[in-house]
Amino acid sequence: MLIAGNWKMYKGPEETAHFCRQLREHPRPTEVDIVVCPPYVSLATAVQVLAGTDVAVAAQNVHWESEGPFTGEVPAPMLRELGVYGAIVGHSERRQHFGETDEGVSRRTRAALAAGLSVIACVGETEAEREAGEAENVLRRQVSVLERDENLVVAYEPVWAIGTGKTATPELAQEAHAFVKSLLDVPVLYGGSVKPDNAPELLAQPDVDGALVGGASLEVDSFLAICRAAIHS
Ligand code: PEP
Repeated sequence: MLIAGNWKMYKGPEETAHFCRQLREHPRPTEVDIVVCPPYVSLATAVQVLAGTDVAVAAQNVHWESEGPFTGEVPAPMLRELGVYGAIVGHSERRQHFGETDEGVSRRTRAALAAGLSVIACVGETEAEREAGEAENVLRRQVSVLERDENLVVAYEPVWAIGTGKTATPELAQEAHAFVKSLLDVPVLYGGSVKPDNAPELLAQPDVDGALVGGASLEVDSFLAICRAAIHS
């Protein structure tokens, strides 16, 4: 089981240091892989404060080139230099607001894996796509640009469930995860309004291998409650 906290555009270095100090001091389930994904400017702080613990630090994106004239982007070797373990790629907010394409997701993922980073590649349909009966086609298209790798996990994040408080039912999540796994044999995390109260049932589904958590990862107590829910799942 892997529980990753996507902090989105929250927590500068000071708040990151505070959160990570708290996380370091709280008892954590050793059988669960825990990852925090702060904004770029807070990565170094998170790596420093969590050094020597079992909590890994990942970025929220990564570029496909290793350096060059790409203003505003950050490449995998620089993340590696910081001590960062991995990166999220293709989050729906990147696809929705920043024109991220399947082709870009593919290039970012391949480059990150080649540089030795682990990758959490996000896929998921919008509400309109699900209502139109297109959910499986969308997932098939998004997953088709990825290749199996031992350092790759997929996060199934239905766009209609992200930051909305609407969670997929455990049955719907299970069905989508099984479908994704039929396309690509990698662990699949669920993401979309995961909270301490719905985590146990979601994580208990046989093909749910963990969670990518947004809002509920911003407080140590709720984040750790979700990590604990993963212990016996
Ligand atoms: C996310 O940011 O990946 C996410 C799933 O957000 P939330 O848990 O807030 O829906």
